[in-house]
Amino acid sequence: MLIPCPNCGPRAEEEFAFGGPVRELPPLDGTADAKAWHRALHGAGRAGGALPEVWYHHAGCECWVTLRRDLASHAFEKAPT
Ligand SMILES: [Zn+2]
Repeated sequence: MLIPCPNCGPRAEEEFAFGGPVRELPPLDGTADAKAWHRALHGAGRAGGALPEVWYHHAGCECWVTLRRDLASHAFEKAPT
């Protein structure tokens, strides 16, 4: 699998470490209930389609990058230029 690093271009998956999906967390002021936290922490990716993920390019630019990947096909959307 080639991963389109926005800094280095397409590179082999072995050059990266997966950091997980980007999650939108509930407010940290104590107003969110347990269901909101459960959805935020465990619900990402269940609906399918492309989701934003973070990847660390340890063998290249040594940057954390956010990329969108389709969960069914594993195809990455083109990195922003
Ligand atoms: Zn890179």
